[in-house]
Amino acid sequence: MTSQRTRDRLVARLKDQGIKNVSVLAVIRDLPRHLFVDEALASRAYEDTALPIGHGQTISQPFIVARMTEILLEGLPKNKVLEVGTGSGYQTAVLSQLVERVFSVERISPLQNQARERFYQLKLNNIRLKHSDGSWGWEENAPYDGIIVTCAPEQIPEGLLRQLAPGGRLVIPVGGSSGQSLRVIDRNGNSFEETELDAVSFVPLLTGQI
Ligand code: SAH
Repeated sequence: MTSQRTRDRLVARLKDQGIKNVSVLAVIRDLPRHLFVDEALASRAYEDTALPIGHGQTISQPFIVARMTEILLEGLPKNKVLEVGTGSGYQTAVLSQLVERVFSVERISPLQNQARERFYQLKLNNIRLKHSDGSWGWEENAPYDGIIVTCAPEQIPEGLLRQLAPGGRLVIPVGGSSGQSLRVIDRNGNSFEETELDAVSFVPLLTGQI
């Protein structure tokens, strides 16, 4: 169930759905997603679905991970990337193979600890984690060439815009119970250009930390 053939099938499906970036597809083919979910769910790890990871959270669907990563990497090279919502660490691990350094913030401590253990096992050494409310970003390492948010706020947090480098790009789901959409914000100097993409369904961005 976790064989290379199963993973190849997932990648073929992502290609059919329009994912074109060959580096992103190669990383998804090679990264063991089954190590990012509970053992009881490992046999479903290469289905194109979100799965529960505890604490009311989910590991994102491979298609959305691929799509957001592809959008983030378009254009300029992204050396330094911030992720808000580490969760299982899967999206973080995908990014770590494609950019120089990844900073990731998570508000639920046990999820962060599990993710850290996975990165250690997989020898992913270019990831730094912080336990905090990511609505504030991670000021100390700003600015970032790219910021990716894997939980949905009702509105784009100001702090994230401020921490985006000139020429940088923010990819974020925005919206509440009446529906969310994926937004891309490009910073040019001090102006921000926003594009609205697909309808999406993410867990909400919550404030505070536990
Ligand atoms: N990228 C993760 C997605 C997990 S779901 C994965 O593929 O596994 C989204 C995550 O965002 C959850 O773990 C949730 O706890 C976290 N989250 C929600 N609000 C947050 C906030 N304000 N700051 C940091 N993390 C937050």
